[in-house]
Amino acid sequence: MLTALEALARLREGNRRFVEDQMRVASDSNPARRARLVSGQEPFAIVLGCSDSRVPAELVFDQGLGDLFVIRVAGNIVAPSQIGSVEFAASRFGTRLVVVMGHSQCGGIQATLEEILGRASTQSRNLRSIVDRIRPAIEAMLASRNEIDSCTIMRDAVRANVSASADHLRRGSDLLEQLIRDDGLLVVGAEYSLETGVVNFFDGIPAG
Ligand SMILES: [Zn+2]
Repeated sequence: MLTALEALARLREGNRRFVEDQMRVASDSNPARRARLVSGQEPFAIVLGCSDSRVPAELVFDQGLGDLFVIRVAGNIVAPSQIGSVEFAASRFGTRLVVVMGHSQCGGIQATLEEILGRASTQSRNLRSIVDRIRPAIEAMLASRNEIDSCTIMRDAVRANVSASADHLRRGSDLLEQLIRDDGLLVVGAEYSLETGVVNFFDGIPAG
């Protein structure tokens, strides 16, 4: 199994190919590869990303069948089933890198901002359960601001939500805490730009 930093390098390399229109691994997901994976999998990274149709993890990292263990939920929130999914992959497959990936223009973040600013309100209890998970990190971020430039606020809200989700994974599970402490598990936060296709890893990257 790759170490967390090796896995991170592979994701960065794949995203570079995606941005430069040089994709190759994703298109390699042929019947032979499928057949080899029937007996087992060793995904080298776990990605918790948003359900947004414009941010499919396998494509933006140019990865194929069996490479990534992907959890997608609107707003890349962390609820118990997301923690359980990460625990499952990290303990079952030995995967050592977890990436929480938000993105620009995220509808879940926009909806939460509109709620906080009193411009809209969510009627559905189910949808509210997502907004309520995003809300605390954004409220804390807004509380430290004086000026309200909507572009800056939106960008910082996406980042605050990613950092909160990553932090939740680092601290919200005894199993993950133990793997981080003793076994080289790394949880990082990233943001994908719809405009450029670039994934920027900005949270939890070890120095050096
Ligand atoms: Zn989104």
